Amino acid sequence: MLKGRSAIVTGSTSGIGLGIARGLAAAGVNIVINGFGKPEDIEAERAKLETEFGVTAIYSPADMTKPADIAGMVTEAEAKLGSVDILVNNAGIQLVKPIDEFPIEKFDQIIAINMVSNFHAIRAALPGMKKRNFGRIINIASAHGLVASPFKSAYVAAKHGVVGMTKTVALEVAETGITCNAICPGFVRTPLVEAQIDDQAKANNMPKENVIRDIILASQPNKRFVEVEEIAALAVFLSGDLAQSITGTSISIDGGWTAR
Ligand code: NAD
Repeated sequence: MLKGRSAIVTGSTSGIGLGIARGLAAAGVNIVINGFGKPEDIEAERAKLETEFGVTAIYSPADMTKPADIAGMVTEAEAKLGSVDILVNNAGIQLVKPIDEFPIEKFDQIIAINMVSNFHAIRAALPGMKKRNFGRIINIASAHGLVASPFKSAYVAAKHGVVGMTKTVALEVAETGITCNAICPGFVRTPLVEAQIDDQAKANNMPKENVIRDIILASQPNKRFVEVEEIAALAVFLSGDLAQSITGTSISIDGGWTAR
């Protein structure tokens, strides 16, 4: 059903973004992958998308802190793939620190990558979507877009901002064939979370298994990590025609975290 569509997935050289890129490619979508990493690893993932799924996949090294890079990535995608029908704003970073010790440049960087980049990408991709009267904008927020945890001021502020921006965009394009939604995952075991597990194990002098059970998954009632494939499946559904009435909403995949 998605065959022949094209998507940009930001921050898709790893973790959730890579899972979503693979999920969309499996549904026949041409893909722009984006993010950092070793050139040979990125090229291997890009090539795998083409050989495994028979789609066209290109790589954009656009830095999500740089507005001109983001606009350039959209222009390049439209030129090389013909359109950007699906935009998944996924790139994100984290830092866990008390607010009075939070490095100022790190706060600015988290806000830029996790929230402001969504604005620049949406701003650049919308005109083409409006022209074709079809678009799916999927912002990867977080349970932290709906509730807070201590020591994550930049991340929580950015993700709440993403949820607010999602609603605004949805209202602005409500009478078109474009939808805009946020996905709010709980903990997913990606490099971003692996770093938090390591930090907490060191800080609390605890084995990793105890950190996972007693700290990381303490807020996740089902006591298991979300799998990237579960998030990818939702992104694929939201990208389809049958999701045309789902817009302006935040969908939680968090094992019950935000039900409390
Ligand atoms: P990850 O660290 O595995 O992947 C992050 C991706 O973003 C990588 O591809 C990285 O290269 C890219 N990236 C980082 N800085 C960038 C920049 N300046 N420009 C372009 N790309 C950049 O992390 P992840 O866990 O897969 O997180 C993906 C998204 O999901 C993030 O927005 C994160 O906040 C969100 N999220 C993650 C979890 C979780 O538990 N892992 C939970 C909820 C939400």
